[in-house]
Amino acid sequence: MRKLRELSFDNRYARLPPTFAARLGVSPLHKARLGSFNTSAAALLDLHPDEAASDDMVKLLNGQTEWPGTEPLASVYAGHQFGQYVPQLGDGRAILLGEVVNKHGHRWEIQLKGGGPTPFSRMGDGRAVLRSTIREYLCSEAMHSLGIPSTRALCILASDHPVRRETLEPGALLVRLAPTHVRFGTFEYFYHRGMHTELRTLADFVIEHHYPQFADQPNKYAVWLTEIVARTARLMAQWQAVGFAHGVMNTDNMSILGITLDYGPFGFLDQYDAGFICNHSDHSGRYAFDQQPNIGLWNSVCLAEALTPLMPIDDAKAALETYQPVYAHHYFNLMREKFGMKESNREASEILNEALALLQANQVDYTRFMRALGNFKTDNTVNSTLRDMFLNRESFDTWAVKYQAILRAEGPNDEQRKAEMNRVNPKYILRNYLAENAIKKAQNDADFGEVNTLLALLQRPFDEQPEHETYADEPPDWARKIEVSCSS
Ligand code: AMP
Ligand code: MG
Repeated sequence: MRKLRELSFDNRYARLPPTFAARLGVSPLHKARLGSFNTSAAALLDLHPDEAASDDMVKLLNGQTEWPGTEPLASVYAGHQFGQYVPQLGDGRAILLGEVVNKHGHRWEIQLKGGGPTPFSRMGDGRAVLRSTIREYLCSEAMHSLGIPSTRALCILASDHPVRRETLEPGALLVRLAPTHVRFGTFEYFYHRGMHTELRTLADFVIEHHYPQFADQPNKYAVWLTEIVARTARLMAQWQAVGFAHGVMNTDNMSILGITLDYGPFGFLDQYDAGFICNHSDHSGRYAFDQQPNIGLWNSVCLAEALTPLMPIDDAKAALETYQPVYAHHYFNLMREKFGMKESNREASEILNEALALLQANQVDYTRFMRALGNFKTDNTVNSTLRDMFLNRESFDTWAVKYQAILRAEGPNDEQRKAEMNRVNPKYILRNYLAENAIKKAQNDADFGEVNTLLALLQRPFDEQPEHETYADEPPDWARKIEVSCSS
């Protein structure tokens, strides 16, 4: 276990040509202090948990003290935002310090989100407000604990730094970790400028360091693209199965590793609603919940186009053609397991689609229903807890008869099935109202107790935690109207 000062850095991104990034330092936040510290992410860096109590840590992360070994930079990228190509984005408010190599030889990039303006900030101030920082901090860890690939979050620095959004709000810093933060948009930047040498350099860099299994293959770019397409499809399947809406699936928010990246106005489904739009600014519903699988493909097409200088066009097309079957296969299997069904057949597919239609029509809470379904009894007893979730109880009864028949045919073992289902149907998710409560306490009372409680709770989403039973409740009325926009 090491102190922050003792971490060894090796900044491979900084070795790329100067056109890839701008060198710059962190602009310190006024009166920065530790808000919350995540020991499970710290372990990835071999970082001693006691570091959370050290003033030195805040000074290093806040750019007040020079940090030997780091080579801070902001990377450049582009991207399609709501379908429109924007030729230059880049880390407008994220600063990459470098990669830490842990004792297993694994590397983690440390990135500061909200570390001040960069040459790519455009009109922005380079800051992140506390509320959005808390949301990303909690959600990235929640997703990881749900088994969904994601960036990780080490800590939050709170501050007295005023940041103007609709009102003045306190600024904060999120310290996040990922093997790489390269996005689809990083490739688009070089492609659309005709910088094909740099494009190849970037592809070789990502393959060598993050997809080494393809490095020596003669058609390495095509197999690599196929793998990215598959990872993206699988990630979409995981989002859909858990009921997660990202909200801003621009290509600059799509990770080249297929991990969930850049949490903004995301939302988990409460009542099941296929058309759920979590981003208040998404007027056309481009990124509505049920659109995400299509957008995952649309974004993959943008990436494939950007990679066409590296492979025959037919190879790029063939890679894209794998998206739909990979998505469908993965989604179906995840959902089948959530319903506790073993056989992959038409009946299984129909029964779960019927269930989703019923949940939608009856405004049933998705997570609560799926969790409660583990208690389904196949012995003809009335499953009244489930039944009572439906406005139209007869429609549930009709469905339950068919569901029971499937389970019985597969050899009913209600207890065993329940145990298996509870491993895939979370009890606790980051509902907006839970995040909102934690944000209010941190903003109004500088009290991060609720943030820490939620972090610990969401790191064990499948476990019953009776002392926190109410955290699995449906949102209270005041919280049904929470609107989250991009202004973070
Ligand atoms: P997002 O939609 O949050 O992924 O942001 C889109 C782009 O705008 C990214 O390149 C961000 O780095 C940049 N950006 C977002 N907010 C700010 C801000 N407050 N200051 C500077 N750049 C920002
Ligand atoms: Mg982004």
